[in-house]
Amino acid sequence: MKIVFFGTKPYDKLWFEPLAKEYGIDVDFVETKCAEKSVVLAKGADAICVFVNDKITAGMIDKLHEMGVKGILLRCAGFNNVDVKAAKDKMVILRVPSYSPEAVAEYAMAMLLTVNRKTHRAYTRTRDFNMSIQGLMGTNLHGKCAGVIGTGKIGQAMIRMLKGFSMDILAYDPYPNENLDVTYVTLEELIKKSDIITLHCPLTEETKHLINRETISLMKDNVYLINTSRGALIESNSLIEGLLNKKFAGAGLDVYEEEAGVFFEDRSDDIITDEILARLTTFPNVLITSHMGFFTSEAMEAIARCTIENALELEKGGPYTNEVK
Ligand code: NAD
Repeated sequence: MKIVFFGTKPYDKLWFEPLAKEYGIDVDFVETKCAEKSVVLAKGADAICVFVNDKITAGMIDKLHEMGVKGILLRCAGFNNVDVKAAKDKMVILRVPSYSPEAVAEYAMAMLLTVNRKTHRAYTRTRDFNMSIQGLMGTNLHGKCAGVIGTGKIGQAMIRMLKGFSMDILAYDPYPNENLDVTYVTLEELIKKSDIITLHCPLTEETKHLINRETISLMKDNVYLINTSRGALIESNSLIEGLLNKKFAGAGLDVYEEEAGVFFEDRSDDIITDEILARLTTFPNVLITSHMGFFTSEAMEAIARCTIENALELEKGGPYTNEVK
């Protein structure tokens, strides 16, 4: 079994290399992302392993198929970056559906606490020996209303934490979970009533730009918006407009619609050409991080283990536990 592992970072190698060795899998780690031009590097491999921002198009799937590649191993939960329809009858797509919902939910909570209590700003102030607390006032979370959009694994972990902060919780999910002790409402009601809105649904045609000018106009003033899901759930220009209109008390964004090619990379020497991202970084009440909600040692270990198990199933020709169809 040979896997070409695209977009390798040192932390990927740390977790994947020993496991692959243990199971006798030959892994070729390449730093380049998987793209139209680089896909040829998969020649001779049984599978490729890719991450969230490797866009796998129909054309690339055809090339992979011609080269005899049998599967795409996604080392992530989301699969919106792969043309799943194009892969039908050509390629098996396997993902890691759940590795550590707590890792992402805890990160969403960290973002909320940071933008609310402004610890990101306090940190830089005190390092410069500016001990003024002027402008750093937050709000109690206790007794506030949190709206959770998407009550899957991460949404449920988030709900458990929000309850620990004694918050009232509203939830929206087109497939409500009857076993969950939470009040389900319509998306509109959630948006209108929540002091904090946190996104935990996948990116689909239906959820793309769920947060837009119209939905923002329905929100309470001084709302907090947290997105650790996928960038395109938010229409960025509308968010900027809302920030300029002082609609938001704060926003925590771990993901961004145009993050591919920027997030996960060191671009500190480059001129920023993405005006929207550049603008978003200028707001003192916006915290942007580079898609790192998943990034805990427990989650990395689980991702590596599940991906290797998926590879072994692929080698056997199925049955597949984590197939994306
Ligand atoms: P999940 O499949 O367990 O849950 C997703 C939930 O969203 C489901 O309950 C589903 O019914 C619901 N949903 C579907 N369509 C919806 C809609 N139109 N409106 C509201 N809810 C809808 O997934 P999960 O493991 O909880 O992950 C959620 C998302 O988090 C993933 O899709 C991924 O995009 C993102 N994620 C981000 C990171 C990160 O590092 N920031 C890591 C892992 C996952």
